[in-house]
Amino acid sequence: MSGLVLDGLVKRYGSVTAVHDATLNIPHGKFVCLLGPSGCGKTTLLRMIAGLDAPTQGRIVIDGANITDVPTHKRDFGMVFQSLALFPHLTVGENIAYPLRIRGASKADQKAAAERLLGLVRLPGVADRPVSKLSGGQRQRVSIARALALSPRLFLLDEPLSALDAKLREAMQIELKQLQQSLGITTIVVTHDQREAMTMADLVVVMSAGRILQAAPPIEIYRRPADAFVADFIGMTNLLPGTVTAPGLIAVEGGVLAAQETGPAGTKVMVSVRPEEVNVHATLGGPQGGTNHLPGTVTFLRDLGASVEIRLDVAGKEIIAVSAPQDRPLVEAGDTVAVELPAAACVVLPQ
Ligand code: ATP
Repeated sequence: MSGLVLDGLVKRYGSVTAVHDATLNIPHGKFVCLLGPSGCGKTTLLRMIAGLDAPTQGRIVIDGANITDVPTHKRDFGMVFQSLALFPHLTVGENIAYPLRIRGASKADQKAAAERLLGLVRLPGVADRPVSKLSGGQRQRVSIARALALSPRLFLLDEPLSALDAKLREAMQIELKQLQQSLGITTIVVTHDQREAMTMADLVVVMSAGRILQAAPPIEIYRRPADAFVADFIGMTNLLPGTVTAPGLIAVEGGVLAAQETGPAGTKVMVSVRPEEVNVHATLGGPQGGTNHLPGTVTFLRDLGASVEIRLDVAGKEIIAVSAPQDRPLVEAGDTVAVELPAAACVVLPQ
């Protein structure tokens, strides 16, 4: 098997199991984001891949070779970790060329490599500056350039953009993705930001409480989440608990939903419907019910310019609908409405 294989990785710290049985195949050239809330084990998983922490159990295999016990410096990986800060007393160029200096490269080769790498991270002409004179975003580019100096076979980054402000962060996400695409290097990034993962990743690995819940392309995770946690963590969603009354039909608070792949009658399920799939219909006092149409009341409406968000009360539960401004339903706060959750938009998940 070519690429990176994580085979049943476990990491225990005393009585705490930080990572449970992580198994994953990462083909060459993929951009992978390890995504999950604080404490879910994503940094621990990355540190095991990097060789900074030894797994309690399991194997790490790259291109068929078991590297579980190979020390970090012999793994040939590039890393951008918080703990691997830049050397403040060296210039930008010296920082970037540092890994080459350790390998005994000539001064001329170091200088040429630093210039080439600075071009790659779109920061030309600053090789002679002290790193202390750079902004946060520029420093992060220098860290990335230094990590790529030895043309590593794997590129590992732990929350590389978390210290940057929102606008710069978004620009850097796109740059990092473009850089990775141009180099074709297998890259693994830890993030707790789902938008960041959706922007950059070919493969999103969602983790919770030390376990991998789902590993799939971003749009598949969005459209076909494995469970309610993933559905809720990736973008906004409405979650309605219900019970299957007959195959294809689910009773929820306020009405009945037709949906696909419900399982047999009696199954307890969670129905996830994305806000952009919810349709709100003015009823003008007429009938509000019917399959996939639940009676509700508008509690709050806000026009955000690019979209309109409507908050609804359906049988005591809040449902959120988002529509494009041109599709804005003619309703106001206080109106009774029919809330349509179309059958094709109802994703049935285990409860
Ligand atoms: P964050 O986003 O906050 O960095 P994370 O998802 O990266 O979180 P980890 O840092 O991998 O999570 O931690 C996972 C669990 O393992 C946590 O419960 C943490 O307290 C525990 N843990 C991590 N490192 C150690 C350690 N060196 N000793 C003891 N427990 C640890």
